[in-house]
Amino acid sequence: MMGDRQVMQEGLFYAFNLESHVPGDHLLRAIDRVVNLEFVREHLKTYYSTTGRPSVDPELMIRMLLVGYCFGIRSERRLCEEVHLNLAYRWFCRLGLEGVVPDHSTFSKNRHGRFRESGLLREVFETTVRQCIVDGLVGSEGFAVDASTIEANADRSQGDIGSKGIPDAIRHRRAVQEYIEVLDDAAFGGASTVAPKYLSPVDPASRWTRTFRSGRAYYSYSINYLIDCQNAIIVDVEGSTAIRQAEVTVTKRMIDRVARSHGIVPKRLAGDTAYGSAAMLNWLVEDKGIEPHIPVFDKSERKDGTFSRGDFIYDADEDRYICPAGKDLKRYRVAGRIAKAQPPKDDTYRYRARKADCDACSLKPRCCPKEPLRKVPRSIYEPARDRAREIAKTEAYYVSRCERKKVEMLFAHLKNILKLDRLRLRGPTGANDEVLLAATAQNLRKMAKLSIQSQQTSPA
Ligand code: SF4
Repeated sequence: MMGDRQVMQEGLFYAFNLESHVPGDHLLRAIDRVVNLEFVREHLKTYYSTTGRPSVDPELMIRMLLVGYCFGIRSERRLCEEVHLNLAYRWFCRLGLEGVVPDHSTFSKNRHGRFRESGLLREVFETTVRQCIVDGLVGSEGFAVDASTIEANADRSQGDIGSKGIPDAIRHRRAVQEYIEVLDDAAFGGASTVAPKYLSPVDPASRWTRTFRSGRAYYSYSINYLIDCQNAIIVDVEGSTAIRQAEVTVTKRMIDRVARSHGIVPKRLAGDTAYGSAAMLNWLVEDKGIEPHIPVFDKSERKDGTFSRGDFIYDADEDRYICPAGKDLKRYRVAGRIAKAQPPKDDTYRYRARKADCDACSLKPRCCPKEPLRKVPRSIYEPARDRAREIAKTEAYYVSRCERKKVEMLFAHLKNILKLDRLRLRGPTGANDEVLLAATAQNLRKMAKLSIQSQQTSPA
C-alpha cells in the first residue's frame, strides 16, 4: 500500500538536545575526551588587537581543521559546509544548533597569518604528544623513522628547466619568496648541489620526483615521521624536499627536538637503508648513544667475481687489513706519517697493499686484475658501521624491522583513508602546516581508539 504523502509541517518550538544526538561511540566523542586546546587562546593573545570587532574564535577554527584532517575533508569550503550540516561536527566544534560557521576565507587568512607566525600548529601537535606521554602511550625505548613523498599543489605540466632559476616576474609570490628563504636550508635547497630537473612556477621548493612504484614524475615534498614503536604514536613530524640527504637531516632535527621538548632519547632507532650512511650511523652511535637498527649503506660488495672488502680482515690493533693471501694493507708505510696526516676530504681512508706482494701473488687475477696493487677503502665512521652490522645479526633487529613497517602503515592510512595524497597549501611552510595537522589528527585518532579499547577491556 502506498504511504501517505509527507508534507513538511514546521512546529513553532522544538526541544532539541544536540548532546543526545551524537552517538556515545562516535569517534569525535573519544577525540573530544583526549584533545587539549585550552592553551590556544592564551597562545595567540598577543597576535590579536585589543580593539575592534571580535574575531572568529581561534579554538573553533582549530577544532574545524581537526575535523577536516580526521575525516579526510580536504577543501576548506567543503569543511565549512560539512560542519554546518553535520550534527556531530557541530557538537565537536561547540557550535550548538544555531552557531554560525565561519566563512572559508577566514581559514586562509589565519593560516597564513597568526597561526603561522605564532607556531600554533606545532604547539597543537606538541601538546598532543605530551598528552600521549602523560597517558603512558609512548614507550620511549624504540623509535622508527621513514619518509614518504607527497604530491605538491603544482601542475606537473608547468615548469621550467631547474638550472635556469626563478624568473623575476614571479619573485613576488609567497611560495617563491619562501623558496628563496630556504635555499641554504639543509632540509631544502641546501640538501643537494644538483639543480632540480624542473622548477614549478607556483611552488619552486617542491622537487621534481619520479616515484619508484608509479614511475610517474611530479612535483613533491617529503613527509618525515618519527614514531614511537610501542603504539605507533607520531612523536615528531616535518616536511622536507624529496631527496634522501634532506630526509636524513630532518631525522637528526626531529630526534634533537624530541629530546629538547619531551626529554626523550630513544635507545634504538629503526629505519631503512636511506638512513644507513656512515655519517648518520656515526651521529647515532657516537653523538647520541642510540643503537642504529638500520641496514648499513654499503656498496663494497663486488659483482665481477673479484674479492670484496668483506674478504679482507681488519686488524684494529695494528690498524691494517689482512688480505686473502695473508699480506697486510696499510694506510701509510712510513713511520710517523699517520701523526701528520690530515683527515680525508671524502671521509674515507685507503689501505694499500705492497706492489711487490701483489706482483708475486697467485690470487691477483681474483683481487686486482687491472690494478698494480689492491686498495681497500674504509670510512672514518667504520666503527659505527661495524656496530650497526653487529646489531643486524641480533633478534632485536628483526623485531625492529617489523616495527619499522608501522610508519609505512601510517603513511598508507594518511593517503588512502585521510585522503592526504596531495598537498593543498604551497611552499615549505604550507607543507609543514599540513603535515603537522595530519600528524595531530592521526595521533588523536590513535589516542581515541586506544582509550575506547581500554574502556572495553577494563573490568566493569
Ligand atoms: S693481489 Fe695483493 S692484496 Fe690481493 S691477495 Fe694478492 S697480495 Fe693480497
